[in-house]
Amino acid sequence: MEIRRAVRVSVPGGIHARPAAEIVKLSKAYNSELFLEHQGKSATTRSSFKLILLSLKEGADVTIRAIGEDADQAVEQIAGYLEARGEGAHPEPPTHAYTDTERSADIQNRAADPQRGDGAQDALAGGLTGVAGGSGAATGPAFHFRQPVLEAFPPLCTDMQGDIIAARSARHHVHEALCRQAASASGQGTAEVLNAIAELAEDVEWAARIEALIRENKSAGAAVLQAGAELADELRALDDAYARARSEDIASLTRLTALQLQGKRPLSLSDVPAGSVLIADEISAAEAGGADLTRLSGIVTRHGSASSHAAILARAAAVPAVFGVQDPAGRLPQATAIALDGDSGLVFPDPDELTRTAIQLRRQAAQAEADALKSWVAVAPRTADGISVTVAANLGSADEIAQAQAVGAMGVGLFRTEFLFMNRKDLPGEEEQVNIYKRLLLAFPDHPVIIRTLDIGADKPVRSISLAKEENPFLGLRGIRLCLTRPELFKPQLRALLRAAPYGNLHVMLPMVATTEEIEAAERLIDECQRELVAEGKEFSDFIMGIMVETPAAVFAAQALARKVRFFSIGTNDLTQYVMAADRLNPAVAHLCRGDQPAVLEAIRHVCAAARSAGIWVGLCGEAASHVALARQFVATGVTELSMSPSSILKMKSAIPSFTAS
Ligand code: PEP
Ligand code: MG
Repeated sequence: MEIRRAVRVSVPGGIHARPAAEIVKLSKAYNSELFLEHQGKSATTRSSFKLILLSLKEGADVTIRAIGEDADQAVEQIAGYLEARGEGAHPEPPTHAYTDTERSADIQNRAADPQRGDGAQDALAGGLTGVAGGSGAATGPAFHFRQPVLEAFPPLCTDMQGDIIAARSARHHVHEALCRQAASASGQGTAEVLNAIAELAEDVEWAARIEALIRENKSAGAAVLQAGAELADELRALDDAYARARSEDIASLTRLTALQLQGKRPLSLSDVPAGSVLIADEISAAEAGGADLTRLSGIVTRHGSASSHAAILARAAAVPAVFGVQDPAGRLPQATAIALDGDSGLVFPDPDELTRTAIQLRRQAAQAEADALKSWVAVAPRTADGISVTVAANLGSADEIAQAQAVGAMGVGLFRTEFLFMNRKDLPGEEEQVNIYKRLLLAFPDHPVIIRTLDIGADKPVRSISLAKEENPFLGLRGIRLCLTRPELFKPQLRALLRAAPYGNLHVMLPMVATTEEIEAAERLIDECQRELVAEGKEFSDFIMGIMVETPAAVFAAQALARKVRFFSIGTNDLTQYVMAADRLNPAVAHLCRGDQPAVLEAIRHVCAAARSAGIWVGLCGEAASHVALARQFVATGVTELSMSPSSILKMKSAIPSFTAS
């Protein structure tokens, strides 16, 4: 028997990897051969890959074809999944075997012990599991962060004057909306970006090109898309970083104007109402970096993992978060309220009273723990065998200084300078950088401040620096590799660091180092900067130079590298992904991308041994540094500095006296 049925895809976000895998799983229960057909292409439901290649967006019309004796049931099942927003494919997790009393007892136990959430218990308690992003538990109304879909436009105009007026009005609306958003944006950088795009919306060339195309009989929408694509191409072809950055603005403007013509508006994180739990497929480092995340009660994403940069920013803002949530039955898209526990990686869509109580208890327990930890603020901890361990802060902006001081951070173990470069229309100049670095040094007069040179590329794009498209950006021109090819970018930073150095105990470290030649090349540039500063009569001094150890090459070359620098700081986020060949952003391999993998621990031991024989110290600034059980092992292998988000510092200080260093 052969059956066909036309359906519209209602699965949020369309048929990307996870729904495709779900369809494959569902169709395996039937003997029939099943196909999805769309725009002349057909894909068997036995292959996720083929389904993904169909590129079915939410709202797409698709035909299900089934051949076999159980074709009607199979079609019914797949249609149900596609039409019902991806839900109902599986029975709900088995919450029912539990009585309320048992469940309440379990809730109380789990509330009392935040480390306890394990997979089996969680399924019983009805929670979805994901990668723990930390920062405690929360409840709040759900805010579904879904960008509107841009539909196809008719190619030709039906009423030329009408289309010209529609395009003008869309441009005007976009301009007004961007100006309003810029006025209420939380960060200076975000406001600048929005204002830059607002300006372009009123640009005469932009208007003229759109109207010329409409006069050639293109519809308003088609004209906007074509004018935008042509302008962006022309800008991209120019040999000028600023102009190339504008090509991205034109691309954003084109999308905004086209959406406006369809009466739609894209979302930004500032649209998320304060106090809500954000639910998104993913948030990029750029989106998260420009937004005031502290307004949110929680963050839940379907993709991403705990060492993505969005996750790091969420932790810095102390917002409870769970990433890469598994939601096979599609419960999240329906939820109006969410409870989540960032410490155990559990998410409860539309929580019942008992779950709310449990979350509340956990919040109270966390508050009590935080109060008890306050006595550690001024303590400089030592291990049981008397070795001092520095507990420093990872910061992404000078605005986080007060938060780090409040918890008694013993200096800065990692200042990620790339965040100074993101979410703004131009690059920070030398003077601006001097002032920021000076602020950091003056804020921690008694401790080292480790500033990392620009680490962009891969998942940290900077809009005003155009990067060539790469097949494998994580293995490409990022960190020190990029800086060495762009002295016009790197030298102002090195000059600013040299000029800030007299104000404190400045340590500078280079990211993504793989060879001794990279250190030597950076040193040559530093010498050049020093000669320039002497000639200009500007005050400066030397800083202490170190490197991040985050590539397997740096591990194996640790002995040679240790002879070139004064300290190492192990970046376990990248080191783990490169040692384990497991993408730090991909929740499907989160079990491999962990700092406690034996291969990673062995790499760290090797680095510590090399550092010891060269007489230099080793710190650790990846996310693993904030996990007490892991930190215990790192300190035992010779790490003497742990740097982490300020929210983890007090707990770590209180744990160190139970560690042994040798
Ligand atoms: C790391 O890789 O561990 C690290 C600290 O650097 P980032 O997370 O900024 O890549
Ligand atoms: Mg790194």
